[in-house]
Amino acid sequence: MTITRFMPPHRILMGPGPSDISPQVLQALSRPTIGHLDPLFIGMMDELKQLLKYAFQTENEFTIALSAPGSAGMEACFVNLIEAGDKVIVCRNGVFGERMRENVVRAGGQAITVDDEWGSPVSVAKVKQALIDHPEVKIVAFVHAETSTGALSDAQAIGTLAKEYGALTIVDAVTSLGGVPLKVDEWQLDAVYSGSQKCLSCTPGLAPLTFSAKAIEKIQNRRTPVQSWFLDQSLVLGYWSGEGKRSYHHTAPVNSLYALHEALLMLHQEGLENAWYRHQQMHEKLKTGLEKLGFTFVVDQAYRLPQLNAIYVPEGIDEANVRRHLLETYNLEIGAGLGVLAGKAWRIGLMGYGARQENVALCLRALEESMIE
Ligand SMILES: *Cc1c(COP(=O)(O)O)cnc(C)c1O
Repeated sequence: MTITRFMPPHRILMGPGPSDISPQVLQALSRPTIGHLDPLFIGMMDELKQLLKYAFQTENEFTIALSAPGSAGMEACFVNLIEAGDKVIVCRNGVFGERMRENVVRAGGQAITVDDEWGSPVSVAKVKQALIDHPEVKIVAFVHAETSTGALSDAQAIGTLAKEYGALTIVDAVTSLGGVPLKVDEWQLDAVYSGSQKCLSCTPGLAPLTFSAKAIEKIQNRRTPVQSWFLDQSLVLGYWSGEGKRSYHHTAPVNSLYALHEALLMLHQEGLENAWYRHQQMHEKLKTGLEKLGFTFVVDQAYRLPQLNAIYVPEGIDEANVRRHLLETYNLEIGAGLGVLAGKAWRIGLMGYGARQENVALCLRALEESMIE
């Protein structure tokens, strides 16, 4: 056996996630591991909760980082909030909306789907019609920032609408958190999950999660226990809350949480509004350059995510070859198209620490050269 130490190269990550991680966050990751019930670690977790509340713009008492990737954040929302037979409106305008539908069905719920074209935002009018047609609906689930297409949906309008009809909302904010405005309390959103590796630019594997008082109430009034022991948030609650005192639920990913603390601290120091503005500015620069090179966007300007730029691959170009060339020659990773956009689009991420001028410049230069090649 000739296995030696694994030394990854320094890639520049401009795909749909994971995003570039700052050296500060990587340093935090390598600090000494301490016990997850150590008083100092518990103090760090309390700060982490405060920083997460800031990022989500919420006062929700239940605001934590789940020890698992964004997909587990998604699953946690559905298995905790759905009971057998519950009717749930699920909006589908890309890959992740369909995953939500699967979660509803597996949790024993009844999915009522509201479909929009890939690349379009969720139609608020269609959601309203579905709420009128199905007055017994308990939950509306949608993706705020659809990473498979780069479309932004109006979470504020959908959140307000759901409240009018007495429904809770489950919101996928995996790609939106830290990249575009997201105001959990002001928009009256109930169960919102995210991921550590997109606009927060932390290592993958953690899912920030926040539940409103109404969501907690629904969980506390369940007739049946949550089928998943690990994701049952009523058990996790005892681990993340309780002033100073914690009961053991599972071993927290200690060093990953140091990294998230550092990444959120950086976001706090920059200021959320400044971070949103930076993502927008970098998108404008990238857009100007891409248009000069003749590229066109999948999503209309009005709904375009600054942090995820889906562009069409020009006719006659082998898209996989170009991506391989970018990786081999420039150490640059961009994303391929997913689903109906497979082979037809590239997805260029400008997320978190990756939303920087030098990344934009490199990407434009590398793409131009690769196309000539
Ligand atoms: C990346 C992503 C997820 C899944 O997150 P993982 O950390 O890969 O499990 C879910 N929803 C959206 C919108 C995403 O972009």
